[in-house]
Amino acid sequence: MPRQPLAEFTNLAAVHLKVDTKFAAITELRGEHIQCRSGCHSCCLPNLTVASIEAAQIRQYFVQNPSALAAAVEVAHTDPHAGLRCHFLDAAGACIVYPVRPALCRAHGVPAWVQADAQSEPQVDVCPLNFQGVDLTTLPDDRIDVDTLNTLVFMVGELWQRDSSRRRVGLSLKALRISRRGAL
Ligand code: SF4
Repeated sequence: MPRQPLAEFTNLAAVHLKVDTKFAAITELRGEHIQCRSGCHSCCLPNLTVASIEAAQIRQYFVQNPSALAAAVEVAHTDPHAGLRCHFLDAAGACIVYPVRPALCRAHGVPAWVQADAQSEPQVDVCPLNFQGVDLTTLPDDRIDVDTLNTLVFMVGELWQRDSSRRRVGLSLKALRISRRGAL
């Protein structure tokens, strides 16, 4: 049984809960348009990076959960998705760090409100498997504002460790500085 998050990750857990709650509300309302299910991992792409605080929480999860660490080591050795998926996706298509997966992973699947850069107009984006044939501009409340989410993660990161939020960390054992032999 995973332990409770350390107090230093309480604010991050609150942000994650906020995303989960919004995701659940959208799913409740628009479930017929959402194909997300266990085993679908089309959004679990390689080379994703997260804020330092989210990386630290995942590292702590591995420290507390030897079976999760063993699973990640197995993936690192066998590369079951031929480099086309996140290092924390197991051979069966399940997220090894699911209880502490990053905020953006939690938001994947429902419409996202994103602004590519300061010059661009914000627009709504969604997994191509979901909301097929639906005019997303008619669902203004059924989306997650990615810029606001990134800002919240940035702020809890700064409260956790000043200036840490400028650093992005890859989702891999190597980037988390965990040995493939499992030694932490
Ligand atoms: S951390 Fe988990 S949910 Fe996020 S991309 Fe990796 S396998 Fe997918």
